[in-house]
Amino acid sequence: MRKSFHMTPNEFRAAGHTAIEWVARYLEDVENYPVLSQVQPGGIRARLPAHPPDSGESFEAIMNDLDAIIMPGITHWQSPNFFAYFNGNASAPSILGELISAGLGTQGMLWATSPAATELETLVLDWLVELLGLPDAFLSTGRGGGVIQDTASSSTLVATLAARERATGFTTNKTGDLGHLTAYTSTQAHSSVEKAVRIAGIGSANLGLVDVDANYAMQPEHLERLMLEDVAAGKTPAVVIATVGTTSSTAIDPVQRIGEIARRHGAWFHVDAALAGSATVLPDMRWLHEGLELADSYVVNPHKWLFTNLDFSALYVTDRSALINTLSVLPEYLRNEATESGEVIDYRDWQIGLGRRFRALKLWFVVRHYGVEGLRHHVAGHLRMAKELADRVRQHPDFDLAAPVPVNLVCFRHRGGEAVNQHIMDTVNASGEAFFTHTKLDGKLTLRMAIGQTYTEDRHVRRAWDLIVEAAASAE
Ligand SMILES: *Cc1c(COP(=O)(O)O)cnc(C)c1O
Repeated sequence: MRKSFHMTPNEFRAAGHTAIEWVARYLEDVENYPVLSQVQPGGIRARLPAHPPDSGESFEAIMNDLDAIIMPGITHWQSPNFFAYFNGNASAPSILGELISAGLGTQGMLWATSPAATELETLVLDWLVELLGLPDAFLSTGRGGGVIQDTASSSTLVATLAARERATGFTTNKTGDLGHLTAYTSTQAHSSVEKAVRIAGIGSANLGLVDVDANYAMQPEHLERLMLEDVAAGKTPAVVIATVGTTSSTAIDPVQRIGEIARRHGAWFHVDAALAGSATVLPDMRWLHEGLELADSYVVNPHKWLFTNLDFSALYVTDRSALINTLSVLPEYLRNEATESGEVIDYRDWQIGLGRRFRALKLWFVVRHYGVEGLRHHVAGHLRMAKELADRVRQHPDFDLAAPVPVNLVCFRHRGGEAVNQHIMDTVNASGEAFFTHTKLDGKLTLRMAIGQTYTEDRHVRRAWDLIVEAAASAE
């Protein structure tokens, strides 16, 4: 009888070298893979055994199936030819930070369960305030602070919960008594806002959808009107959510004016800059944040555009006690001296879940590897490539820009109508040479290319544009 089924340290060492070599080769070759996986639903599962193996298998056998069966079902987010949705960009230092985090396998729910996990998280989030030029009120050294969440959706949910609690004098956690609270966001906001409002118990029927202007940015006058109507009807505005860089078209809501209105009504002001926030690593992009001093909370996703692989969403608040009063529950079995002393942060009180991974390592590795200079260089490159693509669209007689290009997303349409645009998208995506997605603006099918993959260069953007023009020609 075997004493152990574990990998020995030496087996792990050998398999580990193989795995690193595999990832290194993948990143070298990824631009040659068809970007969008072409498998049919169920196609991957059908090729895998229906039941778990009775006896353990070799690492080699597992890797063989990874190559043969799993890889065809991968859409290559790390391909420089990936222009779909918003990028989820990774980088070598981030991958290594993730690996070491997995190696440590810590559970950082409390300061006491791994002091370094908590303290490094606090530090890198304070660094990020400086890197992005965010208001000092978000620093942990005052009354505010940042916390890593898995996604912007969780960040916005947690902020909405704190807003709900503050609006009711921190009573609804106990009483569950709702029905008079309202929330506001623009018609162009991310779907995670409605989801948060639903989960927080405010209810999507109490979510005021504010009209947008010709550039798809929130109209503050309409926000004010909706809030006044609700107040007159006996409702309490709990939260206003503005977007810096909407998902459809990267429209920039006027944060300053929206913040002033939210303040006037005593509503929590949350700013969702999940993608575009990373652009402010460049001082000349900090106009995006004008008025952010008025925000109670703010979310940016380094896992979209700051070379840090999923998951890493940074949520900031100016008053951490509002968040902690909303989310803290302390059962006997988690009581400990450090917590009782009040001298430490227990991040479990800043999120929905209890357990948490050591994600700070990723951003720490990234920032130390690239330095401010490196981060600026690569983000500036994406911005430049987006502007140049926008110029190409503008100069082409058959294409129009469909929205302004404040950051790294280009929205455009062929003049031939819906069918031609659909044909262009389907043709290019089926070719596997590039992958982009669509949205609807003013009810019209709109093609969109996000330029933010870590290794995207001019030649990739130029090639994608050539494919688009060729596909348009083949539609006629
Ligand atoms: C991508 C995005 C989200 C959702 O991000 P997740 O981290 O996937 O939840 C929310 N808001 C905006 C503006 C986004 O671009």
